[in-house]
Amino acid sequence: MSCNLCDSLDADVVSEIDREGRPLRSVICRACGLVRTDPMPSESRIEEYYAREYRRSYKGSPRPTARRVLRAMEVARDRHERLKPHLQGRQRVLDVGASSGEFLQVLRASGISAAGIEPNEAYSSWARDHLGLDVASTDWSRAEFPAGRFDAITLFHVLEHLADPVGALRRLAEWLTPDGLLVVEVPNVEGTCGSPRGRFHFAHLHHFNLVTLGAAGERAGLSVAWRHTSADGGNITVVLSRRAASAGTFTVTAGNHERVARLLRGHTAARHYLSPRTWLRPLTKAARHLRETAVCLRYRTAEDVARTLGAPGAGLPIDRDDRPALPAG
Ligand SMILES: [Zn+2]
Repeated sequence: MSCNLCDSLDADVVSEIDREGRPLRSVICRACGLVRTDPMPSESRIEEYYAREYRRSYKGSPRPTARRVLRAMEVARDRHERLKPHLQGRQRVLDVGASSGEFLQVLRASGISAAGIEPNEAYSSWARDHLGLDVASTDWSRAEFPAGRFDAITLFHVLEHLADPVGALRRLAEWLTPDGLLVVEVPNVEGTCGSPRGRFHFAHLHHFNLVTLGAAGERAGLSVAWRHTSADGGNITVVLSRRAASAGTFTVTAGNHERVARLLRGHTAARHYLSPRTWLRPLTKAARHLRETAVCLRYRTAEDVARTLGAPGAGLPIDRDDRPALPAG
């Protein structure tokens, strides 16, 4: 199977197992540096996986929990802070993979009545029924929107799950107005904040860095207007524009394959466990868990958390002093 970004067949194996030690081959394209699962699972295999995983994840809790909503709401607010300058004045926004609607709520609080699509029936119906959000229970490949319908489309942690990310971006770009924006956030293949053993798993079919993510947008006919890497290096975001679009020609920085391959080789278990950051992480997590527990006791239901934190001008009830400061602008 060829590279989804550059069509090259030339690739090197970077891993033979997934995070649970089961066989899963991942390869890096020697032409562009995009990392992918190889062979790519069939569509039916992917659908079967999600049906099974969803059953497992939601057993005993078919609806989002208060803690989950709280965490997602914090993430949604951080994203909105970063993206505000780009979204300003854009009224027709679509959030693809809207989950239980946290980003839509933050947009609503800022005066934008956005719509969402989310394939998980339990989460999408919860967002509709409990929060009154416009979330359709469908995915990007089945959704139908007229061309030029949206001023902006957001896609948070969706693209890495897709077998044909460039095809998806191309389809979403058609739903944008001529000066519309596509905002894409994915995990950073160059990120070293997690354990190297946890890097590969079945659900993530592609692994991008800023170079390959931007190039995927260009290949889909868009131009890169803004790039961002999270403070911990774990996530990357690009804002892609239809204006001044590239008609499908894309550029990959020379040496990108070597750079990504070197980073993957260098991120070893030994180095990971020798890093003080690795040992501080459980403490930070425990502290966060305690604070979340206190908040969840106060609000009790997921709906209460969502409503309270999603209200216009609502403050965050969590002490956030340990979080990295957001970049200005
Ligand atoms: Zn490639």
